Amino acid sequence: MAIINENYLKLPGSYLFAEIARRVTGFRNDNPNANVIRLGIGDVTKPLPPAIVKAMHAAVEEMAHADTFRGYGPEQGYSFLINKIIETDYAARGISIEEDEVFVSDGSKSDVGNIQEIFGINNIVAITDPVYPVYLDTNVMAGRTGELKDGMFEKVTYLPCNAENQFKPALPDHKVDLIYLCSPNNPTGTTLSKAELKKWVDYAKENDAIILYDAAYEAYIREEDVPHSIYEIEGAKEVAIEFRSFSKNAGFTGTRCAFTVVPKTVMGKKANGEEYPLNKLWNRRHTTKFNGTPYIVQQGAAAVYTPEGQEQIKAIVDYYMTNAQIIREGLASAGIEAFGGVNAPYIWLKTPNNMSSWSFFDKLLSEANIVGTPGTGFGPSGEGYFRLTAFGNRENTEEAVHRIKTRLSL
Ligand code: PLP
Repeated sequence: MAIINENYLKLPGSYLFAEIARRVTGFRNDNPNANVIRLGIGDVTKPLPPAIVKAMHAAVEEMAHADTFRGYGPEQGYSFLINKIIETDYAARGISIEEDEVFVSDGSKSDVGNIQEIFGINNIVAITDPVYPVYLDTNVMAGRTGELKDGMFEKVTYLPCNAENQFKPALPDHKVDLIYLCSPNNPTGTTLSKAELKKWVDYAKENDAIILYDAAYEAYIREEDVPHSIYEIEGAKEVAIEFRSFSKNAGFTGTRCAFTVVPKTVMGKKANGEEYPLNKLWNRRHTTKFNGTPYIVQQGAAAVYTPEGQEQIKAIVDYYMTNAQIIREGLASAGIEAFGGVNAPYIWLKTPNNMSSWSFFDKLLSEANIVGTPGTGFGPSGEGYFRLTAFGNRENTEEAVHRIKTRLSL
């Protein structure tokens, strides 16, 4: 019988969403007439904008005719999309990225999950706490961690982010090799400024570390001082890999398209100390294990960069950000301390009266019939916090805020 990868057994079951579902079902059974509003989802709700739909229809039509049909495309993505990405997301910000430094994929989840494969097993991994769970779980699966003890995996460096440090992770007090940063952050909705990010780039340079920078929520940035790309920081092209997605800016959560930038100047090293470009390794991995994002989807993604596409996605992001503002202001007027929601679709609230995350979940569900996400689901430092999202529709968002203000006994 084949031996299994026992690293998988170190992972606890996907308790969070199963437990949320269990509690919501229980509540619904006991209160069949309650109108439950979900502000816990991390998925978008607005449909694909018309410019993107039109481009995808045209691409489907091309696929229907022998002279325009396309089979396998370049695994790294079509030039028509990569060049738009480079022009709009990088060159326009004064960042020079070459075509063979961009890898188009089927999503950032796969990319942030798969990237660890190109690194040795003994690297020390640092994650912020709370965290988007994929960074941690994929390193557990690979065997880069020890066992789970008191909610934390051995051998992993956890960087606590809380109200006391304004959700800015402190630099590790020991050497780490791989650092996952996410800004704007899921789940806290907070961001790193240029000066803060510079500290991380400097740390990485001094310690020969690599930063894995997840900018999936870049489109939500509103404030001037928040970098849209880590490559806005001097020296980052030597130490950072950046992940971007069309999921949250253009509604591609179900359509699937993202990209990863691996500058040719980012180096790892071989056991003998010789430097080796990570771009080459990622190219090898990507072309061996991935056969390209569908042509139709890449045409849709390219339409994001047309003037109509840009206008339409901006309108959607603005809509969600107005929801975020409504939630933030509603919480403030209910006397609940909250963070995020200014450059991100997530609002991270401090549970009132030091309630546990799950107690607040139950209270919000029973008194206001609202479902959110307990902070503990994102790591031990999430205890005492709770995530609400701005991806709902306006009516539900307003109704939810009204209920928080009028029904919640604090
Ligand atoms: N990175 C972060 C921080 C996310 O929150 C998500 C999705 O929620 C992703 C990546 C995944 O994005 P994609 O839909 O491109 O796989």
